This record gives sequence, C-alpha cells and structure tokens, in this order.
Amino acid sequence: MINFDYIRVSTPTAAVDALAKDKAAQWIAGGTNLIDLMKKGVLNPQKLVDINNLPLKEIRKEGKVLRIGALALNSDVSEHELVLQSQPLLAQALKAGASQQIRNMATVGGNMMQRTRCPYFYNPDMPCNKREPGTGCGALKGFNRMHAIFGTSDKCIAVHPSDMCIALVALDATVLVAGPKGERRIPFQNFHRLPGELPQRDNTLERGELILGLEIPDNPFADHVHYLKVRDRSSYAFALVSVAAALALKGKTIQDVRLGMGGVAHKPWRLVEAESFLKGKQATEAVFREAANLAMRGAKGYGQNNFKLKLGPNTIVEALKKATEKA
Ligand SMILES: Cc1cc2nc3c(=O)[nH]c(=O)nc-3n(C[C@H](O)[C@H](O)[C@H](O)COP(=O)(O)OP(=O)(O)OC[C@H]3O[C@@H](n4cnc5c(N)ncnc54)[C@H](O)[C@@H]3O)c2cc1C
Repeated sequence: MINFDYIRVSTPTAAVDALAKDKAAQWIAGGTNLIDLMKKGVLNPQKLVDINNLPLKEIRKEGKVLRIGALALNSDVSEHELVLQSQPLLAQALKAGASQQIRNMATVGGNMMQRTRCPYFYNPDMPCNKREPGTGCGALKGFNRMHAIFGTSDKCIAVHPSDMCIALVALDATVLVAGPKGERRIPFQNFHRLPGELPQRDNTLERGELILGLEIPDNPFADHVHYLKVRDRSSYAFALVSVAAALALKGKTIQDVRLGMGGVAHKPWRLVEAESFLKGKQATEAVFREAANLAMRGAKGYGQNNFKLKLGPNTIVEALKKATEKA
C-alpha cells in the first residue's frame, strides 16, 4: 500500500505554487500513466495535486491558430469538429493511441508527459539510468526490440511512446507553459529531448512548470494526411514504428510536406532532410523511397530492434502513398 496526500487545486497559479512549496508533490491529470508508475514502484510522490479542475479544457480557434488546453481529453480532441476539419493528422494520431477507455481519461498535457514504455524503466529491480541515474542501461545489450534507432546515447536507448506527439511535431505546434518564473512558449520540436548524459530528463520543462496548452498554426494539410502506426496488435499497443505524413499537393507536385516518426527515438522524430528533398518533387513511390532512404541516414540497430532499419523506410513510403491517395 502506498500512502500519499491528495489535494485539488482550481487555478494554474495554485497548481504551480503547490509544487513549488513541496518537492515531493506531483500533479495528476487523468492518472492513466502516473498511477501505473506508482503501483509498480517506479515513482513515489508523497502528495498528488489534482489539476482536473483547472480551466484548461478548451479547444478553440484564435485567429490563425488552433488552441488546445492541457486538460482537454484525448478523445474530445480527436473528435472535435475544428480538429477534424483543420488538423486531421492530429485526430488520426490520437485515435491510433491506447484504447477508447484510456483516451476518455487521458489529457493532452499528460500524454506529452507520459514516460517511456521501456521494460527496464518499469522494473525497479533492473538497471535503468532513466529511473535511477548511474545504474546502467539494461536495454543496450538486453531486451531492446521496442527501442530507439536514432539519437541514442550509451546511457539510454528508450523511445518516446506517444502517438499524438508525432503529429504535433510534424504540425509545428507550440507548447504554452507556466512556472514559478512566469509563462513561456516552447516550440514542440524543442519540448522533448534526446537522452545524452541525462536520460532521466524526458523534456525541457523545469521542475514545477505546468503545461497550459498547445497552439497549432493553420497549415495547408487538410486533405492529404496519414498517420500510419505499425504495432504488434491493432489496438492497445504502442508503436514499433509510426509515421505522421502531411502533404500539400498541386496536381502531383509536392508543394509542402511534413513528416514525423515515432517508435524510433527518445523524442518525436522530425524528418527534416526528407521534407527538404520532397519539396517541389513529384509524388511518386520512387521519390518517396529516395526520401525514406535519406531519412534513415544515421540509424543504428541494437540487435533485437534491427528490423526497424527496414520497417522504418517502408513505413515512411507507405504513409506518404496513403496521404497522397486521399482526395
Ligand atoms: C494500456 C495503455 C496503453 C496505452 N497505449 C498508448 C498508445 O498506444 N499511444 C499513446 O500515445 N499512449 C498510450 N498510452 C498512454 C496514455 O496516452 C497516457 O497514459 C496518457 O496520455 C497520460 O495522460 P494522463 O492525463 O492520464 O496523465 P497522468 O497519468 O495524470 O500524468 C502523467 C504525467 O504527466 C504530468 N502532467 C499531467 N498533466 C500535466 C500538465 N498539464 N503539465 C505538466 N505535467 C503534467 C503528471 O504529473 C505525470 O507526471 C497507453 C496507456 C495505457 C495505460
């Protein structure tokens, strides 16, 4: 039995103050990740600060951006008319995640903050530099079928698990946060980080910074998008590899393109080189294959996950083909 205190707050200021005052406190939103981690003994907050009453559930258009509050539920976002119309890639990625029941509880902020699914991280009897810095990385030479092929370090090869975040990195979202030092805006690409020497840090938030919400700018990607998730089961499973593809086409010419990749790195992976290569080219399978080969430069397998070196480019090509087909 784990003992902890529980309080509810109703303003962002009170939420930030509660963590600033108490180093052992942690916010709880939907609880779908945090409670699992507490049950397994991976995290042990002494106080849970429930933020579900904060006024951060809005989904609305403000000028040329779509604004989504941190406490909007994954299911509400994925079914909202504004999201379906203007950011269908985000809706697809959300619907590919977890199960309907979990999406009904899970919040946007919690989804961004969810921890890796590396089995060594989830087992306190195993070495894991992310859970306990300095103990080593069990996955490097161990069970690493789900693990990263880009941006790894000798301290950690875990992957970021969210589907939603793969679409958000492709869509150039901005994260709005509030902390003891005030508010700031973080480009989505800079929100999550690579493990380097500090694998215990998943993102660039400072302790006590609360996610208020997201802004997604308008884009020309309402028609040709596809989120392709390859996984062991068709539901309730994390991505082996996923690709978020968005195309703006004039005839067969690619006028603009965005590509994000999941299941391959410690952060949502943006395929910048492939995007530059594709701009102005014809949308054909041969061109997609060249882009995919470019995107895979620098990829490295660790044994059990070597199959991702082939699955990765195939998933990129297939996602681009599917995005092209949509009228
Ligand atoms: C069986 C299962 C399968 C799943 N499959 C998938 C999947 O396929 N794809 C996928 O993407 N996800 C999947 N998930 C993960 C799920 O999407 C996350 O658990 C969920 O999004 C977390 O949101 P939450 O609101 O429940 O967060 P919580 O569990 O409440 O919180 C998680 C963390 O976020 C912090 N936090 C919450 N809100 C904020 C905020 N506003 N600011 C700062 N910190 C905050 C909390 O303090 C905590 O540390 C799965 C989960 C389960 C249990």
